[in-house]
Formats: sequence, structure tokens, C-alpha cells
Amino acid sequence: MLDLFLPPVCVHCHAPLAEHGQLCGPCWSRIDFIAPPLCDVTGLPLPFEEEASDTGPPGQNHPRRISALALARPPVFDRARSVALYGDVMRHLVHSLKYGDRREGLALFGRWLELAGRDFLDDTDLIMPVPLYRTRLWQRRFNQSALLAFELSKRTGLPVNVHALRRHRATRTQVGLSERQRRRNVTGAFTLAPKHHPLVKNRNILLIDDVLTTGSTVDACSRVLKKAGADRVDVLVLARAGHSDGLQL
Ligand SMILES: [Zn+2]
Repeated sequence: MLDLFLPPVCVHCHAPLAEHGQLCGPCWSRIDFIAPPLCDVTGLPLPFEEEASDTGPPGQNHPRRISALALARPPVFDRARSVALYGDVMRHLVHSLKYGDRREGLALFGRWLELAGRDFLDDTDLIMPVPLYRTRLWQRRFNQSALLAFELSKRTGLPVNVHALRRHRATRTQVGLSERQRRRNVTGAFTLAPKHHPLVKNRNILLIDDVLTTGSTVDACSRVLKKAGADRVDVLVLARAGHSDGLQL
């Protein structure tokens, strides 16, 4: 409907464009899209000097490359992938999705997620968005992670479950917390009722969130899913904070 009345504009800066739901060239060039070579676990670009320790058996033609960080502190999830680093344009796009009720970028985000998740989407069984606590969900009127999950589902045909994984208590907002505080903040916050265990048992689950910072939230979810018998838990997000921000996985 929107298309009929409003001229197409850039989803970030609102400059006029030929098509709806796109970014203009200048905004596009201000996004740090994450490109290979990546650490197979964290999904972060491997620095040149760290010519990847070739651990594990070669995948399809290429060895798994795992960063020193992931080897030193392996996360609970198996692999994470992100579309881009959390720069100013991405920050604005995520923020408008989260708080602004602006959904014109969703189709674009779905395409980006499908590309970023190509390493594991083929053998993913089920998509689960990171849940919000109920009151927070009501405040925002929707769960931005669920919107992303449904968008990805539309593109891939993969099923989504938004109800089984629950955030059963409010956690303080993660912003401004130290890594340790974040970890404590989310420990025990997520549950999966026993009646839902068959959904994930022996399955490859894909967790979707908007932003990945320390990874403590998705790790808490992954722990719950693996306890319920999930074979693999991968993580796909729009944006992630890199080491430059002083944040780490
Ligand atoms: Zn623009």
C-alpha cells in the first residue's frame, strides 16, 4: 500500500531513489559489510597476521579457520555470522527497526541475512528469534528479532518458532554493562519447557537477533537449546560490535 502513495527513498537518509526498500550509494558505502576470510566460529574477519590455525577436517575444499579468541574461549553456540559491523548507519537501521516501527528496510535485511548465513542455512532445521520479555515486547509492540526471523523464513522456506524459547524474566538492558555483568544478567533468563524439547532435539537450530555484542545473550539461549538436545545452534545477526569497540565475543 505504502508504495502507491509515497515516493521511494533511502531507508537510512531518505534521499529519493528509484526503488522502495533500498539504500542509496553513499549510505551503502558507509556500512562495513563483513567479508571472508572469517573465523568459522565467531564469524569475525580474521586479521591478516593471524593466518588461521587450520583445525579440524577440511570442509568443502577449505579448512576451518578458527581465531585465537574462539579457541581460547569457545562459545556455547557453534557458529555466528553477521551482516555488518555496528557502525553508524547500521546502528540507525537497527534502532529504527527496534523502536521506530519502521519496516521498509525488512526485505533488504532479509536478503542480507540470507547471504550472511549461507554457511549454515542449507542444513538449518528451525529458526528461533531471541525472545523479549513480555512487557518489553508490549512496549515496543513487536519483537524485532521475530520480524527478522519471519523475513528470513519467507526467503528460505525454513520454519520459525517464536513461542517455545521464553525469556521468563526481565533482564536489565545490556547497554553499558561489562561483559561479566552481561553474563550474570542473562544467566537463567531463558527457558524451553520440556514439552517443547522434541522441537529442537537432534535438530540444527538457528538463533536470530538484531545485534551481537558480547554473545552472552545468544550463549544463554544456546545453553538452553543444547540442554534440550539440539545438535547445533548457529547465530545470525544484522550487526555486531567488533573488537574496535572494546567488546568481544
Ligand atoms: Zn542514503
